[in-house]
Amino acid sequence: MSAHPRTVRLGNGVEMPMVGYGVWQVLPESRTTARVLDAITAGYRLVDTAAAYGNERGVGDAVREVAREDVFVTSKLWNTQHGRDSTLRAFDATMAALRLEVLDLYLVHWPVPGRDLYVETWRAFEELLADGRVRAIGVSNFHAEHLDRLAAETATVPMVNQVELHPYLQQAGLLADLDRRGIVAQAWSPLGQGALLADPVVADVARQVGASPAQVVLRWNLDRGVAVLPRSSNPTRIAENLDLDGVELAAHHVAALDALERDERTGPHPDTFTGE
Ligand code: NAD
Repeated sequence: MSAHPRTVRLGNGVEMPMVGYGVWQVLPESRTTARVLDAITAGYRLVDTAAAYGNERGVGDAVREVAREDVFVTSKLWNTQHGRDSTLRAFDATMAALRLEVLDLYLVHWPVPGRDLYVETWRAFEELLADGRVRAIGVSNFHAEHLDRLAAETATVPMVNQVELHPYLQQAGLLADLDRRGIVAQAWSPLGQGALLADPVVADVARQVGASPAQVVLRWNLDRGVAVLPRSSNPTRIAENLDLDGVELAAHHVAALDALERDERTGPHPDTFTGE
């Protein structure tokens, strides 16, 4: 049995749980609240929402039922809100929906390079951090050239970059780049939106190690030092996705999973996605 580290230390010293519960498409909000409470009961200590998911209120209702320090809450700024003033307004709206005093992590959801406002947006994030309204700030779906702009034109290195990562889209170059910059990688769609669970190679490894396909793929992500955000609405699976300490992958299992690389996205491409 080998325990994975429960948390990772972000660039500013804040500890972030390595496994979180993602609530994209977990709706309506009453259901979001119930599922987040299932996740917290199962032992999750991070919940990942976004303004665009339309369920921040439901997340807040769950978080306010438990001790605030027990849950790390992430939310994200939507693409249409880039720019200083609209970022600050959007943050206020997020906090009004969550009804929390302080957010743990706020992310720029996508760079939207065609609008070229992400640097100004990032400066507004720096203001929120300096004002103590958020404990950590980061980005999502940023590539090296976007991070280069932030490094050249602003004073704060993002603490997290949340990107699509799973055996079909391993992004080894980006991970090495994030490591050099001291940015923690967090995987969205760590199960490839479920596609990996039907892969015969994953099923075979799962049989060999006595775990479920989801546990194998999540463990593969954690073993690369990547934090994960699996989503499920099924309480048994929510608990299964956190129960990873007993899942041990030998070098040949890792090699078999590494060989699944296809450079295949389930979501949009960050260079072109506007979401409008
Ligand atoms: P995922 O990779 O977590 O896969 C979810 C699918 O896998 C669902 O169909 C679910 O029913 C199934 N599943 C989960 N656990 C299972 C299990 N143990 N056994 C069998 N099936 C199981 O996909 P996702 O929801 O796309 O991503 C997870 C989270 O990442 C989201 O909820 C959201 O918080 C975040 N996300 C962020 C972005 C971004 O741009 N930052 C984009 C997409 C998702």
